[in-house]
Amino acid sequence: MAEQSLAIVTIDGPGGVGKSTIARILAERLAFTYLDTGAMYRAIAYSLAAQGKNVQDLSEDATLVHSLQALELDLLPPLPGEEHSRVRLDGAVLGVELRSEEMGRQASAVSALAPVRRVLTSMQQAIGASGNIVAEGRDTGTVVFPQAAWKFFLDATPEERAKRRIRQLRAHGKEVDEAALLENLIARDQADRNRTIAPLRPADDARLVDTTHVGIAELVELMLAHIQAHPL
Ligand code: C5P
Repeated sequence: MAEQSLAIVTIDGPGGVGKSTIARILAERLAFTYLDTGAMYRAIAYSLAAQGKNVQDLSEDATLVHSLQALELDLLPPLPGEEHSRVRLDGAVLGVELRSEEMGRQASAVSALAPVRRVLTSMQQAIGASGNIVAEGRDTGTVVFPQAAWKFFLDATPEERAKRRIRQLRAHGKEVDEAALLENLIARDQADRNRTIAPLRPADDARLVDTTHVGIAELVELMLAHIQAHPL
């Protein structure tokens, strides 16, 4: 018998497509909790980098699961006017430190490690155990919440996604090297799509949306209409 659906919305897709913005708005509209899984991968990358560890050595490190399980990791809601969740990791609150392109690249590298995925996936499943969640990431519809009632996979051309990311960074007063950003975005997508464990791909039952020419407001309404048309 098929597993029972849970009141969970999953939003997966490549970097820069607008998942966080959309997930945050949808969570507000549905009065659900926003689960930013990328922030968790970024926090682990930050912590490992701060300890001077590099990914090559970690793939051989048998103690990694235990040290990850010992971490105290909590997601905190975005600050007013901010897009992304913050993470409290062993007592320290991490916010803007997690948001650089470099941290995104490092998060992508550590996210390919089996122990990291195992530990974070089970934390995410615990957060979403009783539903009422909008989860956003790369594998939320395929691996973390296969029983989610509403699954979306958002995509857009790399050029459009780079444009969105650049706009976002500039709005925060950051300087941007446009060519390097596009290159980083494409490299990260390829790594995320081609890794062995939990690669970026739409779940078989996900609704695919090409957002290249769709604005945020229109997309939110389209997704809400889909959810309303498919009650639990
Ligand atoms: O979404 P965000 O850019 O914050 O994610 C950073 C990186 O974390 C991604 O490039 C991806 O490699 C990894 N990630 C993942 N699975 C998720 C969320 C993020 O592998 N569910």
